[in-house]
Amino acid sequence: MALDADVLIIGGGISGLVAALGLQGKGLDVLLIESAPRVGGAIGSAREDGCLIETGPNSTLETSPLIGALLLETGIVGERIYANPEARNRFVLRSGQLIPVPLSPPAFLRTPLFSWRTKLGLAREPFVRRSHPEAEETVAQFVRRRLGPEFLDYAINPFVAGVYAGDPARLSVRAAFPRLFELEQKYGSLIRGQILGARERTRNPEKSKQAAPMLSFRDGMQTLTDAIARKLERVALSTRGTGLTRLGAGGWEVTADSPAGPKTFRVRRVVVATPAYAAATLVRPFAADAAKALESIIYPPVASVVSAYSRKDIPHPLNGFGFLVPEKEQRQILGTIFSSSLFENRAPGGTALLTTFVGGMRQPDLARRDEDAIASMVGEELEALLGAKAQPLWTRITRWEQAIPQYTVGHLGRMAALEAAEQATPGLYFCANFRGGISVADCIKSAHAMAERVASAAR
Ligand SMILES: Cc1cc2nc3c(=O)[nH]c(=O)nc-3n(C[C@H](O)[C@H](O)[C@H](O)COP(=O)(O)OP(=O)(O)OC[C@H]3O[C@@H](n4cnc5c(N)ncnc54)[C@H](O)[C@@H]3O)c2cc1C
Repeated sequence: MALDADVLIIGGGISGLVAALGLQGKGLDVLLIESAPRVGGAIGSAREDGCLIETGPNSTLETSPLIGALLLETGIVGERIYANPEARNRFVLRSGQLIPVPLSPPAFLRTPLFSWRTKLGLAREPFVRRSHPEAEETVAQFVRRRLGPEFLDYAINPFVAGVYAGDPARLSVRAAFPRLFELEQKYGSLIRGQILGARERTRNPEKSKQAAPMLSFRDGMQTLTDAIARKLERVALSTRGTGLTRLGAGGWEVTADSPAGPKTFRVRRVVVATPAYAAATLVRPFAADAAKALESIIYPPVASVVSAYSRKDIPHPLNGFGFLVPEKEQRQILGTIFSSSLFENRAPGGTALLTTFVGGMRQPDLARRDEDAIASMVGEELEALLGAKAQPLWTRITRWEQAIPQYTVGHLGRMAALEAAEQATPGLYFCANFRGGISVADCIKSAHAMAERVASAAR
């Protein structure tokens, strides 16, 4: 059988790109197709009025040496920038006030973010029994059981909104925060795990999300995906995978719509690196259980709202990463990143650039409002919370109708269905942010591992 490629990758977000680069580096002939006219998927950077705008992720954490190696391979080490040291500071809204998140035990004892009852209650955490290793608790159940309800409301609820645009009462702790689950299982306590695991962590080249440096690039996150694409020999843009058929002799036939009309590719292996809902459509004809699992993954809508203000109109010192809003505070935004404080040169002097997220699992309908309504809602919230004294100079809104996959209870079963489909239909692989973590760093690590796996099967 004449083949068009050894491996066809469907989807050119960070996951598909890193998998393609890894496979190409192992000597395989790789073709990547991407339905949009550009690669990057959720990652996108743009310039407006002297400001750098991120329409998706604002940064990534350097949790693994694989990330430095990827920058080296793609020639963009010199483009990397690290977050300003004050980005360690984060704020959480409580009773209408932005309270700094405590960064040390003495600061924790002093903070007004938690009551004395919660603070003293932490002393009992090491004695709380671990859950059954097979149980799939929600994040809310896990945190309430180990740390108490106030910790859930004013630490975890806003944090989950910031990372997943998610709801702790829906997310599975094992699937969404496997590290927390492991600490409990291994050490019987999160606090004991932090202390006893310290030595182990210093030996491990992988860094925890708390310890890893935060990075971006001079021209924004898109530098990364553009650089990977430049290294790839075969990328077909504006080419949407429409169907997958297994060939009798082994291998796959992939149909696609392209600017030149319908296309058919015959390949040995296929890596599906699209969002779950698109993957479901592709595999439904021959992997019904996997399709069912994929289509049940929820992607709530999120609007990302970049607002440029005259710096003098924002009284807050903007001395940190940004702030998060607990659901209990009943506001209309999930949180705001102080973009012009986070990295150097994001806005001209005298301009404050803020990126606010709206919607998510908490308030999906707010992200679906029209742009004017979203802009004025965010303006009012920034006036109330940061004291903005004037209207923004301009606002730019990016709407993600299906933003981030939610690892809700049942996610591990869904992932087992994908594995079963991979076993049953050799040459088919799933690699995207619905599997192995949603962060950019997790996607890079998963895609790197996927490239190893596909290459070793090819050998
Ligand atoms: C608003 C927002 C903010 C975020 N902030 C952060 C952050 O600050 N830090 C962080 O680490 N992570 C963040 N994330 C998460 C992270 O950006 C994503 O999880 C990650 O970029 C997803 O990469 P991916 O390649 O798995 O999927 P995607 O980026 O979704 O890529 C999938 C690609 O498949 C393509 N595609 C779909 N269907 C087809 C088809 N049929 N044929 C061909 N191609 C197809 C799509 O066009 C897309 O390019 C954020 C995400 C969003 C949406």
